[in-house]
Amino acid sequence: MADKIYDTVIIGSGPAGYTAALYAARANLDTLVFQGFESGGQLMLTSDVENYPGYKDGVAGPDMMDDLEAQAARFGAEMRLDNVERVDFSGRPFRLWAEDEEEPVLAKSVIIATGAKAKWLGLEGEQRLMGRGVSGCATCDGFFFREKRVAVVGGGDTAMEEALFLTRYAGEVLLIHRREQFRASKIMLERARKNPKITFLTDTVVEEILGETSVEGVRIKNAKTGEEQTLAVDGFFAAIGHAPSTGIFEGLVEMDESGYILQREHTMTSVPGVFAAGDVSDKRYRQAVTAAGDGCRAAIDAERWLEDQGEAEHAEDPGVWTAEKEMQEDPSQPVS
Ligand code: NAP
Repeated sequence: MADKIYDTVIIGSGPAGYTAALYAARANLDTLVFQGFESGGQLMLTSDVENYPGYKDGVAGPDMMDDLEAQAARFGAEMRLDNVERVDFSGRPFRLWAEDEEEPVLAKSVIIATGAKAKWLGLEGEQRLMGRGVSGCATCDGFFFREKRVAVVGGGDTAMEEALFLTRYAGEVLLIHRREQFRASKIMLERARKNPKITFLTDTVVEEILGETSVEGVRIKNAKTGEEQTLAVDGFFAAIGHAPSTGIFEGLVEMDESGYILQREHTMTSVPGVFAAGDVSDKRYRQAVTAAGDGCRAAIDAERWLEDQGEAEHAEDPGVWTAEKEMQEDPSQPVS
């Protein structure tokens, strides 16, 4: 068995994972990040990020993830491009197995930042035209559909929210739902119904996304009559919900009914020493900036928890300003 024990192991490499890594490594914690095969998370699928503070001209999603990775690595966070296949949180140190490896990695604390994924309908065109008219995030990509006609699929709050957001830019939003009844809350549904830019198509399923190099239309079918029709659209938004990437943690940490990990005490999960950050435990905000903030909180919580266990003498509290620390060390300076 490997004898090295990391202070903290972070699983996931979206904004939450990398920010946790930056804070943990900068606080002197011996930090490892399991980036996963799809390193960078959902932002790798986003063309331009215009709502992350600090990038005044916007930034390509993959470029932003490169920056976040480099910033964490600069302070010594170790990176591994492996997926974690299995974990054991039943005893300490915690044990984590990388895919195809027999020897576990050992950790005094773990930060789960595996994120969530937009659910897709499973149409061939979704993958083929991803980023070329197909999107799973109106907040990220809506801006590119100024005065265009777009389709949003789904009948829950996510679909209403996406459709409403898109009306800021698009000329017309077709809201396509497979039934007549909606799961969306009354208030969101009413808001969408009242919006003159949104056209509802119920009892309708999308059979195919059309277009060679970008989205040009959808082939739809009436679920009751079987009648088929082709509609010209420039954008296709799947809005049938998100699923957290929490499969390997099932039964190990408490989750809600949809599989999102519950943060029990600040960012700590039901297992002391195991923390969760970002979309893996957030179905409300789901923004890069909120995930990054959560990653920061998790690193601070992990360091303070390790401190409480007497296991982080070498670390510094990442939540205390350097200037404040300097003042505390210098008795001639007043401490506020
Ligand atoms: P949801 O409530 O589960 O709704 C998913 C919708 O997608 C359903 O209408 C479902 O149709 C449809 N759907 C699922 N699979 C499909 C498929 N393969 N093809 C076509 N349609 C499909 O999910 P959600 O909208 O993401 O909401 C999840 C939770 O987050 C809810 O509790 C919601 O209130 C909350 N949320 C809140 C807000 C807000 O308050 N601002 C925003 C977003 C989400 P069926 O109805 O036929 O099953």
